[in-house]
Amino acid sequence: MTEKEIDNRFSKFGTVSFTGLTRVNDFIDHLQQGRVLGTRCRTCGARYFPPRADCCKSLDSDMEWFDLPSIGTLLTYSSLSYAPAGFGEDLPYTIAVVDFGSVRVFGRLDRSLSAEKIAVGLRLRTEVLKLPGGRVSYEFRMLS
Ligand SMILES: [Zn+2]
Repeated sequence: MTEKEIDNRFSKFGTVSFTGLTRVNDFIDHLQQGRVLGTRCRTCGARYFPPRADCCKSLDSDMEWFDLPSIGTLLTYSSLSYAPAGFGEDLPYTIAVVDFGSVRVFGRLDRSLSAEKIAVGLRLRTEVLKLPGGRVSYEFRMLS
């Protein structure tokens, strides 16, 4: 019996990865190439972020990747003084939901953004982050 090779690329995502095994591991390869992608259902057009391998609307798995639109709008945010286990050293940071029109994306705001500049409606873009240890993530930054 041969041992099947385990595809755990997702364990490289973010500061702490809670999900090592998924069917959307190509997300990590795209991040390493500097692209933030979601998935779109070829049957009904539904878009997903985080990416999904299955569509909950048409109940099938005929999905394709798409690049997030380049500019989004800050929909809501929360600045954290306390963090979940594993994220304490990242404090303080701000989590946010950004509306990219066809899809809404959850993530962190650029830490260098001062609190006075953060406001609902702010125009933002995603930026891929290369973290220590070969880990990758993304964050939202103001348009330069
Ligand atoms: Zn669908």
